[in-house]
Amino acid sequence: VIASTHWDERIARARQLAGRHPEAADVLTFLAGLGGAQRQLADRWAPAMAQRPRPASLRESLDADLLLGAVPDLLSCLERIGPAGLAAAVADMRHVDAAHWKARLDEHLVGGGAEPTDEAPQRFVIEALLQPMAQLLALRFDLGPGVAGPANRCAFCDCLPVVGVLREEGHGAKRTLFCGRCLREWAFPRVVCPACGERTFDKLPVYTADRFSAARIDGCETCRAYLKTIDASKDGLAIPVVDDIATVALDLWAREQGYVRLRENLLRT
Ligand SMILES: [Zn+2]
Ligand SMILES: [Zn+2]
Repeated sequence: VIASTHWDERIARARQLAGRHPEAADVLTFLAGLGGAQRQLADRWAPAMAQRPRPASLRESLDADLLLGAVPDLLSCLERIGPAGLAAAVADMRHVDAAHWKARLDEHLVGGGAEPTDEAPQRFVIEALLQPMAQLLALRFDLGPGVAGPANRCAFCDCLPVVGVLREEGHGAKRTLFCGRCLREWAFPRVVCPACGERTFDKLPVYTADRFSAARIDGCETCRAYLKTIDASKDGLAIPVVDDIATVALDLWAREQGYVRLRENLLRT
């Protein structure tokens, strides 16, 4: 399985949207550059990941030594292409030793993605490294039978969904959730809050903005969580994790209304 092809699609989409959304151009250009580095890692790691036993979960199947061995390369890349604040934080990380990175990785995998905000730049490095390796492993993951009910967390890596996706199916649309960590996608009912399980239609408002025809906010009045949802039936070229970054204005609006994002994206836009 060649996972790297997806990276090319993400990079191309980020460049395309950077030209269309000036307010998000800088962050999309950075995302494209980062995607180039992640693509290289995916290519480098693909043979080793293909030889590992069929993975049952990310934590069990991850090659932490291989992953953390790429920290210096990624730091060099971030110093070169990262926004000023991140590049400065990265310069300080040159002194962080391997044992510390291993502890950060373990914390991240156990904590389901939550982390203290003062560790944000290190968390970003770990997450950016994890995506290509986790995706290579997730592509070989087989959920198997016996899974009951819709899951609001990724069955492979236990992460909450970073975005939802709507696709046409028959006369309606089908919703899937998209894992921000391993980039896996799984089916989930349309009218259920993925945070608290609310099923009452009137408690699940949908907000759209004319500027972003293919993105919307799926809110929940019961728990005040929201999920950014990319409507691929309105734009067949949409790439969920990239279109999410391009539509940050919707997140700003949702936060002003008192909603809390179910899970932050890689760039914490
Ligand atoms: Zn996952
Ligand atoms: Zn809810």
